[in-house]
Amino acid sequence: MSTLVHGISQLVTCQGAEPADVGLIAEAAVVVQDGRIAWVGAASVAPECDEAIDLGGRAVLPGFVDSHAHLVFAGDRAGEFTARMTGTPYDGGGIGVSMAATRAATDDELRALVAARVAEMRAQGTTTIEIKSGYGLSVHDEERALRIAREFTSETTFLGAHVVPPEMRGERAAYVDLVTGPMLAACAPQARWVDVFCEPNSPYAFTEDESRQVLAAGIAAGLLPRVHGNQLGPGPGIGLAVEMGAASVDHCTFASDDDLEALAASSTVATLLPGVEFSTRSPYPDGRRFLAAGVRIAIASDCNPGTCYSSSMPFMIALAVREMGLSPAEAVWAATAGGAAALRRNDIGRIAVGALAHFAVLEAPSYEHLAYRPGVPLARSLVLSEGALEGAR
Ligand SMILES: [Zn+2]
Repeated sequence: MSTLVHGISQLVTCQGAEPADVGLIAEAAVVVQDGRIAWVGAASVAPECDEAIDLGGRAVLPGFVDSHAHLVFAGDRAGEFTARMTGTPYDGGGIGVSMAATRAATDDELRALVAARVAEMRAQGTTTIEIKSGYGLSVHDEERALRIAREFTSETTFLGAHVVPPEMRGERAAYVDLVTGPMLAACAPQARWVDVFCEPNSPYAFTEDESRQVLAAGIAAGLLPRVHGNQLGPGPGIGLAVEMGAASVDHCTFASDDDLEALAASSTVATLLPGVEFSTRSPYPDGRRFLAAGVRIAIASDCNPGTCYSSSMPFMIALAVREMGLSPAEAVWAATAGGAAALRRNDIGRIAVGALAHFAVLEAPSYEHLAYRPGVPLARSLVLSEGALEGAR
């Protein structure tokens, strides 16, 4: 069964090697067969198909790849956000609050919360979602978080080393032993990735040496590494990610020239998370600096209850353009092909023969509208294959 997708005013293939070259085709069509893209070109020369979907003159992009999200949590921290925005001193306990609520939730409650967040993302054009653990912080609760995440995506990430949980604050070494021992053993079968919050600027996160231990143990257990680094200040996260061959180092808010040089010479993607700077009223990293240095970048949501409770990739694209100096083309590339690179995938994030039939359809004639019309619900997902989000059709 072949399907012709036509009525595409502008097709954004993201086939170009450079972020500025998003590979546009006007008045385009795509043929999908067995869940994969079989043909791409001008509608006027499209082959005959068994069935057709007319998109009525809308722009079509690769489905957004959200390569960084923390979706398995209960409760919210709206009070903490309000306090931060109004300058009121507030010590709500941060991640500890989410951890307590998450541990107290039943499996079904957590599953329903994740399902609602995934549906919210899909409704905004996201077709691949990475989901991390990290609000359980015990062997049982981390394994449970990943088991539930696995029901929604194959891109699951073990983040037992998110922070040292409150009950073990005086026993850092014992917690690292737990993460790299029994917790990893329980979680590895449910995860593709291992991640660590490498941030010596936070007393709750992990030092360079601790982070290296966590990543090395994860790699030895068959997981692939990724890193939260350089969020709160200059630090060792980026260098460590490159050293360990991580697919991505995420945040990179404070990157030195040496960090950028190391990234450019590596296969590690720098994933920028502008929603975090927005939601914490922090300075944004300069996206142009990364591109000028030859670093491959991605954009993701970091959807989480503390520092960015937004699941919207269109909003992240608008922020990247407005606040990080990217062109709309560069931001779109980073949110699709860049995200795919950050997950070491070449079957998503582009519209090309052989790729999965994952699309974002816009209520607009061109992709620039994503940044030009911020906050307007323009994007929806169209998935014509079983892929990262099963049954998303
Ligand atoms: Zn994160």
